[in-house]
Amino acid sequence: LHPRTQAAKESIFPKMSALAARLGAVNLGQGFPSTPPPAFLLEAVGRALGRYDQYAPPAGLPLLREALAEEFGVEPEGVVVTSGATEALYVLLQSLVGPGDEVVVLEPFFDVYLPDAFLAGAEARLVRLDLGEEGFRLDLKALEGAVTERTRALLLNAPMNPTGLVFHEEELKAVAELARRKGLFLISDEVYDELYYTPSPPPRLKDLAPERTFTVGSAGKRLEATGYRVGWIVGPKEYMGTLAGMRQWTSFSAPSPLQAGVAEALRVARREGFYEALREGYRRRRDLLYEGLKALGLKAFLPQGTYFLMAELPGWEAFRLLERARVALIPGEAFYREDPPQGLFRFAFCKKEEELELALERLGAVV
Ligand code: GLN
Repeated sequence: LHPRTQAAKESIFPKMSALAARLGAVNLGQGFPSTPPPAFLLEAVGRALGRYDQYAPPAGLPLLREALAEEFGVEPEGVVVTSGATEALYVLLQSLVGPGDEVVVLEPFFDVYLPDAFLAGAEARLVRLDLGEEGFRLDLKALEGAVTERTRALLLNAPMNPTGLVFHEEELKAVAELARRKGLFLISDEVYDELYYTPSPPPRLKDLAPERTFTVGSAGKRLEATGYRVGWIVGPKEYMGTLAGMRQWTSFSAPSPLQAGVAEALRVARREGFYEALREGYRRRRDLLYEGLKALGLKAFLPQGTYFLMAELPGWEAFRLLERARVALIPGEAFYREDPPQGLFRFAFCKKEEELELALERLGAVV
């Protein structure tokens, strides 16, 4: 096999889920909800079956592109539908960078970014967030210092997995200004855009630098159905035809009935306050987990977005924890290339309250 297949090493997320299932553990590892998606989504997909059963155009079903264009305040030509955000990121890295190029990535990072850069032949240059008593923080000077004459793009995840960080408008303005000054593309992974606990929605990079920003989104994250594999890229119109052309050679098009169902469900979700209710439920679960961990004497960092929370379990290792406590977590090192902070774990709280309570009880028995 070609040496590039070294990228085939198994991702930690499905691996922990499989182990958790085998050991009967509470799975707070992989980020997927343990509750069913909303009925309006299931009904919309049901109605689409038998009506949308053949290939969709590679750029996406027109009705989904239109629904997304409305959401993002762009024209439908500025939207390309993908098979999940995972494919969106792959296509973007393939299209924006190549051998000799660098892409700047914040660390801790979502695991997909590094293999995507590697498979494009580019180098990921990491900027590590500071981790202090108050939690994670982006050092804008370090970000600027990471940019070289080979840098082609900056990749941000906001709200950020695994830290739960939501970047302030001032920070994003500085990022946009840096990108403009250095002539860089911005890849903004915003799959958790509706999952925030701040008083107002997180600002979007695309509103600050529309000419160079590609926003990645996910119906799986928004509508609680991660298996549907419907994602999107919103970006400058002049590039989107090429991106649609590139994604012909990966999955060609995302599943038609799911695209049609998602198109309808996105409108219902907006109209009926689904995201407000979702945030309310997640805020409750976030607080339950955060308070519970603190009550166990553990240090936890309160996230302002996503359904992830980072906490410290000093001296523990993920597999021993899984065996001894029967709680599956993602070890911090999964999000670092080298020298990870010790004893850091990511908890997914997109799980039933009783699962969170059981996890806390089990952890309490061993820590
Ligand atoms: N985004 C999810 C997480 O961080 C997992 C995605 C995946 O397994 N590919 O847990």
